[in-house]
Amino acid sequence: MPELPEVELVACSLQRLVVGHRIVSARLLRPGLAPETSPATFARRLRGARIEAVGRRGKHILVRLDNERVLIAHLRMTGKFLYGPTGTPLPKHTHAIFNLDEERRLIFIDQRHFGMMKVVPSAQLDDTKELRFLAPEPFSDEFTPAYLHTALLRSRRTLKETLLDQKRVTGLGNIYAAEVLFVARLNPFRIAATLSKRRIPRLHAAIRTILSESLSSGSTMNVEPGIIDGRYYGGGYEGRWRVYDREGEPCLVCHARIRRISHAGRSTFFCPRCQRR
Ligand SMILES: [Zn+2]
Repeated sequence: MPELPEVELVACSLQRLVVGHRIVSARLLRPGLAPETSPATFARRLRGARIEAVGRRGKHILVRLDNERVLIAHLRMTGKFLYGPTGTPLPKHTHAIFNLDEERRLIFIDQRHFGMMKVVPSAQLDDTKELRFLAPEPFSDEFTPAYLHTALLRSRRTLKETLLDQKRVTGLGNIYAAEVLFVARLNPFRIAATLSKRRIPRLHAAIRTILSESLSSGSTMNVEPGIIDGRYYGGGYEGRWRVYDREGEPCLVCHARIRRISHAGRSTFFCPRCQRR
């Protein structure tokens, strides 16, 4: 599952490759990819539009068009964009095709069928159900320790679950949430609302540290221009994880064995000594 840094990489790559292109035609091969419109409407809303910018909000990729519309795309588990020349055979699991000018083509492939797309008027973007309740971006001015404190105070769930809740903190998935809690020396299973105020700045700083670390290791990756799926990204950061996927290995700080507990349907990795409280 791509996390914020991977989605950022995909958005940046798309920005580099497709901005300025006009969408000559669009085709939805799996109607369920854009369940709120018919394939005909989807095609009509995109046809002839020039791509002005590609960005990201949370884990949603936003393709801004010159026809006052925005294409929202969510990669979910296995969604990938591929950019290349027209006329080459379509790979398996191709769910959408965007034929661009200059004999180029952008396709969306999705082995597990969880991806999502939607075309909305630009003016309504912030009101869509996908974006409306998203927490502030972790690097934005609104994401302050005070904001984080309020968000945690309202949660009766564990810290780990709360960090994964995109309505409270955007962009952290299972891997980075584990890393953040380790760096902040906080127990993943404590109830979020019980975290004392003096520990909030530590958690806030850890969120930004972990995300910027992974962003910078991604930017040094050699991403193949045709394949925009962020997979080389995780590759850059892998092996540098402090606790994630390190069950039984020694903690980098105290040498205690890293533990893994299955929690809310996912594995949580932590150091039982450094993250006691
Ligand atoms: Zn430790």
